[in-house]
Amino acid sequence: MSFHARHCVRASALFLSFVLLAACASSRPMKPPPVQWALAIHGGAGVLSRNTPPEKVKEFEDALARALQLGRDRLAAGDSALDVCEAVVRVLEDDPHFNAGKGAVFNEKGEHELDASIMDGPTLQCGAVAGVRTVKNPVSLARLVMTKTKHVLLMGDGAEQFATLQNVERVPNTHFDTEHRRQILDEVLQERARTGRADGPAQQAGAYGTVGCVARDRDGRLAAATSTGGMTGKRFGRVGDTPVIGAGNWADGTVAVSCTGTGEQFIRHAVAHSITARMQLARETLAQATDALVRRTLQEGDGGLIAVDKHGNLSAPFNSEGMYRGLADSNGRFTIRIFED
Ligand code: ASP
Repeated sequence: MSFHARHCVRASALFLSFVLLAACASSRPMKPPPVQWALAIHGGAGVLSRNTPPEKVKEFEDALARALQLGRDRLAAGDSALDVCEAVVRVLEDDPHFNAGKGAVFNEKGEHELDASIMDGPTLQCGAVAGVRTVKNPVSLARLVMTKTKHVLLMGDGAEQFATLQNVERVPNTHFDTEHRRQILDEVLQERARTGRADGPAQQAGAYGTVGCVARDRDGRLAAATSTGGMTGKRFGRVGDTPVIGAGNWADGTVAVSCTGTGEQFIRHAVAHSITARMQLARETLAQATDALVRRTLQEGDGGLIAVDKHGNLSAPFNSEGMYRGLADSNGRFTIRIFED
């Protein structure tokens, strides 16, 4: 082979290896940049049935999207996880689609008793209220319990009196009424009369709900907030998991969790705190810990939860028919779902 021919072969081989290398590099999946902020919201596990008309489903999806957008914009602007959780839960409380604040379910007496809690991961500061009847946004009262008292949980008349002292917005109990929730109460009470079970379960679609938000902000701080009207037809004075720190709500330096479903089950298994325990003591990942609780500890139909860990990983498992939920992060994620993916 002449010098010129050898040169040509070498040059072509070199060119080919460059092409091959470039092809390999471009086919290798790019690692996403680390998450700067992340959040998840839920509007409860007591969802619409699967044969609900699409325009009704869209209404719920739009309502979730509005709350998720607010949280996304505020975290992107650098707000703290705690402020964002409170603000997002307030939006969901004011939205009649969800069982918290306006649109809360009725208890057996045809009234509303609302529960809420909030927790700041870095400090373990937390506040909660139970059985409040005239506070428009219970999550904000919970935050005031956290910041203005040395207590964690205020209930009933004491919480109402504290609301007066703090000048928070009040409304008559009927402000929370909606026709849809009234219908569900009637169905639950008729079912109880038919079966003769005074405390019978409230399994009708929409008989429970709850709203919640968990967030990790740009500084790596975690927070969680949850608010609920409880379960339709609940006994007067019944308190669920939502204001019980470690059961329905939790945030520390590892993970933030907000739960929804049959509150008694979440209290029995200390669900929200068990997730951080599994992650810290058993070195489980967020996905492993949340799956263990929702799929193995709880029973089918009990509900679900949303969680975010210190790295910004998100998880939203449930064992009910569906769970209203939305997930967003600084890498462009923005998803709204109701049923299984
Ligand atoms: N967990 C709430 C409660 O038991 C209800 C719900 O999540 O829908 O009060």
